Amino acid sequence: MPNFLTYLELAVALAALAALAILALRLRRARHDFQQEVAAWKVRLDLDLKHARQERDHLLDALAESFLLIDAESRIIFANKSAIGMFPGRELLDRRVQEVFLNPKLSKPLLECLRTREPIVTRVVLPHATKSSTEHDASSSVVLVIDASPVSDTPDDAPIIRVVIRDVTSEHHTEQIRKDFVANASHELRTPLTIINGYLSNLIDDDLVDDPEMTRRFLKIMRKHSERIARIVEDMLVISRLESGEASALNMKPFRMRSCIQDVLERLESMIRNQKATITVEMPDEELTLNGDRFYWTQVLFNLVENALKQNPRAGLNIEVGCIEEKGEICLWVADDGVGIPSADLTHIFRRFYRVAKHHSQEEIKGTGLGLSIVKRAVEAHRGSITVSSVPGDDTRFTMRIPQTHGTPDTPETSVSASSPDS
Ligand code: ADP
Repeated sequence: MPNFLTYLELAVALAALAALAILALRLRRARHDFQQEVAAWKVRLDLDLKHARQERDHLLDALAESFLLIDAESRIIFANKSAIGMFPGRELLDRRVQEVFLNPKLSKPLLECLRTREPIVTRVVLPHATKSSTEHDASSSVVLVIDASPVSDTPDDAPIIRVVIRDVTSEHHTEQIRKDFVANASHELRTPLTIINGYLSNLIDDDLVDDPEMTRRFLKIMRKHSERIARIVEDMLVISRLESGEASALNMKPFRMRSCIQDVLERLESMIRNQKATITVEMPDEELTLNGDRFYWTQVLFNLVENALKQNPRAGLNIEVGCIEEKGEICLWVADDGVGIPSADLTHIFRRFYRVAKHHSQEEIKGTGLGLSIVKRAVEAHRGSITVSSVPGDDTRFTMRIPQTHGTPDTPETSVSASSPDS
């Protein structure tokens, strides 16, 4: 028969077992709670990570530059909106750089950066077809600056690189125009300067100053060339003023077109008379006014009428200057029945320093090649447009269209002096 001690031992053992069971239960619950908490943390962390990624993508999408992330296998793992827009119609994500950019000029610097883990910045010039969204003319190329750099610091890490691609075509284009302008201007100025220097050397070194006849002849030639330099400089200043945004500060005032045309014809009177040219002014509305900067419009009409006279020194030229208001626009034209402009030159004549090869029968025609450049820029500064058509010997016509904004002209009208060559 079990004694009292045995019962006690049993009771203690049972109590211990119960305590253990309770502990085990508690532990299980604690583990369950812990697991649940870990799961909740994981969900929260995943959400945070997702938000952080979305935020990163939003920020990178807002960049004007194209941005790519590339992994160790040269696979594109991220491309922002600009990158997708820069290479339209191409699948970028999860594809290898070599497959996406078939032109090695693009893929080579990226692969080089992956291989060496050294940052690379390079400028590449690509044919236009690589980028369809560009607004430059079809013949120009696309210029891109590629900036690739490893993202991770430790060399043992999988080398992930970030790539920024910037389209600098427009800057490149502007820079090219500036370089051409400087080169052309220097060339145009150098010719008369060389001639003046030559005559000066003759006068001084060859002691020709004692010969008054010869001296006068040389001085006259030098004056002609110094006038040319002055005209080139004056024209360049007008172009530079129009290009530097001063156009936004145009002195806009309504003025009567008739008086402006009259001004121009008065200035060119001796030329018109000498060449026995006939000028017709077509203006159905005598009171027609244009809201614009009269200084520039005087220069525009002066250049166009003077061009017609200059290019056609033969007697009996007919020139028509016209102006009409239609469909909320002022339409202005200058036409002549002279030698005309070859069709191959028509698209180039508004370029700075562009001059059509001289007609064989003509003597040297004075001009800087800047006249039509000024005309185009002045018309565009007034939000207008200019076109040209030419049927040689019949009708060479410059037509300008300017949006009409009404106003009443100040009276009395004063003629404004344009910086014309003979003023
Ligand atoms: P330029 O100072 O030489 O006149 P422009 O820019 O005014 O320079 O004109 C560019 C070229 O366009 C001229 O050299 C000329 O060959 C041609 N051109 C312009 N207007 C006429 C015209 N009415 N008839 C024939 N050729 C013209």
